[in-house]
Amino acid sequence: MSLYIDQIRQLVILQKIDSQIIEIDKRLEEAPKELESLQEALTTKNERLGQLKERVDILKDQQHKLETDIEEDATRIKKSKNKLMMVENTKEYHAMMREMDSLEKMNRMREEEKVTLMEDLKDQEVLFESLSEEIKAQEADLKEKQTSMELELNKIKNKRKKLEKEKQAACELIPEPIFKRYDYIRTRLESPVIVSVTDGICNGCHISIPPQKFIELQKGEQILSCPNCHRLIYWEDHFFPQENAKEAAKK
Ligand SMILES: [Zn+2]
Repeated sequence: MSLYIDQIRQLVILQKIDSQIIEIDKRLEEAPKELESLQEALTTKNERLGQLKERVDILKDQQHKLETDIEEDATRIKKSKNKLMMVENTKEYHAMMREMDSLEKMNRMREEEKVTLMEDLKDQEVLFESLSEEIKAQEADLKEKQTSMELELNKIKNKRKKLEKEKQAACELIPEPIFKRYDYIRTRLESPVIVSVTDGICNGCHISIPPQKFIELQKGEQILSCPNCHRLIYWEDHFFPQENAKEAAKK
């Protein structure tokens, strides 16, 4: 009985170590993904920023072209006005007046277009600025996360090494056939490998152990498996008889 209890105790210790290793491995796998998704979000925002920049540049070009055209036609109008004084025949005078009119009309339309364009430009520039700020903040955030994650991962990698050593020590105390059984289940089932049985119910799959098997388990002679989930099982009362007696007394 006491050898049996020792073996179970050792297996439970082994299970605790393995559970911690599993947690660490999960974290080691998930952590880089967190950084990746932050990086992806930043890439998307930078693409959007590039599009905004392009739009701003186009609008600035259009603004420049409008201003040049307005200036050129204003000069032309001014020249025509000077020439007008020297025109002698009425036909030529009217032709020049019409030309000046149409130039002035064109420039008024350009001025209107410019107002709309400047409003659009201002909106786009505001969007550009605020997105730039957002990206800057997120980049700083990402950098900070990278640093803290590196520290965290180094720490848990070291802890994993320590656990591996502890595991080796724990394995040495477990007879090889039992360890092989444990390891066989470990690679095929979701953790944990060894579970307690409370009031005849397996704590791995929460299904009742058949009465005959439960009686056998209570004898504590050999390490048994749950007939349903195949995990190694032990009777909880072998380990916590006093607490369970107290619980029973309460009931
Ligand atoms: Zn079970």
